[in-house]
Amino acid sequence: MKYFPTFLFFAGLLSAQPYDLVLKGGHVIDPANSIDGVMDVAVTGDRIARVAAGIDAAGARKVLDVKGYYVTPGLIDLHAHECGYSGSIFPDDSALLAGTTTIVDAGGPGWRSFDDCKARVIDKAQTRVLVFLNIVGHGMLGPKIEDNVEDMDPQKTAAKIKENRDIIVGIKTAHFGRPGWAAIKNAIEAGRLADAPVMIDDKIFSNTGRTSREKLLDIMRPGDIQTHMFNDRQVEIVDRFTGKVQPYAVEARKRGVLFDLGHGAGSFLWPVASKAMAQGFPPDTISTDLHANSIMLPESDMPNCISKMMLLGMTLQDAIARSTVNPAKVIKRFPELGTLGEGRVADIAVFELREGVFAFKDAWHKKRLGSRKLECVLTVRGGKVAHDANGLGYPEWTSAGEYEVIE
Ligand SMILES: [Zn+2]
Repeated sequence: MKYFPTFLFFAGLLSAQPYDLVLKGGHVIDPANSIDGVMDVAVTGDRIARVAAGIDAAGARKVLDVKGYYVTPGLIDLHAHECGYSGSIFPDDSALLAGTTTIVDAGGPGWRSFDDCKARVIDKAQTRVLVFLNIVGHGMLGPKIEDNVEDMDPQKTAAKIKENRDIIVGIKTAHFGRPGWAAIKNAIEAGRLADAPVMIDDKIFSNTGRTSREKLLDIMRPGDIQTHMFNDRQVEIVDRFTGKVQPYAVEARKRGVLFDLGHGAGSFLWPVASKAMAQGFPPDTISTDLHANSIMLPESDMPNCISKMMLLGMTLQDAIARSTVNPAKVIKRFPELGTLGEGRVADIAVFELREGVFAFKDAWHKKRLGSRKLECVLTVRGGKVAHDANGLGYPEWTSAGEYEVIE
């Protein structure tokens, strides 16, 4: 009882503190906390202060009416390209417009180039940028460099991860064009040394000597991630002759191997995705593989990826889970990220779910028409409004203020 009055004093101070931002009346979807209904979200500083119906917003510095919109945790894009790859896009230019507040660079830099990427991109971005470090020391610099087994050093890769745990969340192997398992095995060895997951992007053509079955059942560990899951040259989850989901893919999922969308410019194919979804084999995580090409014609940003999954039968609630709490868990950042839990960082996305007739394109430039399209209207990153498409936080212009001279 001795500390009770002190506690009351601080509790009083907290409740008296005005909120900095209140999002009023939106439909909140926070799968980590089983929230799916109309509620308000209050922010103090860079943290979520409260999520509840009918929050008293009196005295709040900014109140935004988000009635009719969906409010979710800021999206986490597990596979994108910000640095070290020729098609990299500066993260703020693409992510924040799409409601993505955390973007994971999938293997742009290796241990040799990470510091340069950190200084030039990661430290300068408002978006939170995390990294899967390429097993190749020089990173994703094209076939000759990415095929160089001599530059795959598990020890140096693991050492770089241990020095930068705040940013580096795993290892990536990609585009290895030679036969055999050297790239994947070196990446997994680095993962073992650093206790970190490995994201795998590789071809299974006959001349590589690699098969989906061996990769998924014998080589990958529980917690490792097969990206580009709907690209049948990367992993054959749907048997190309029978159209059935491979029993070994189901078995791999049971043993903890994870499957990531990784849309990109070549990895979301209607024939594979629709068959897998119809047979109950959705992605564990929805991600874009966003780069200079995929952002254009196939439009692989997160809201479009979610809309495409909804067209294939996934609910919005499920798609949000696979874009927030699921990726946060994969990179071991839950509950720090991926939730609107009270006290967590105030990374928030607000979406309009439009109804109409919309064209959704796959990587083979075939389109399907869908009736619902998710569009980001507002993004809050660390408690600050970073994107406001509909001007929800803007006062109306009046002619009285025209050519006002500000001394
Ligand atoms: Zn990629």
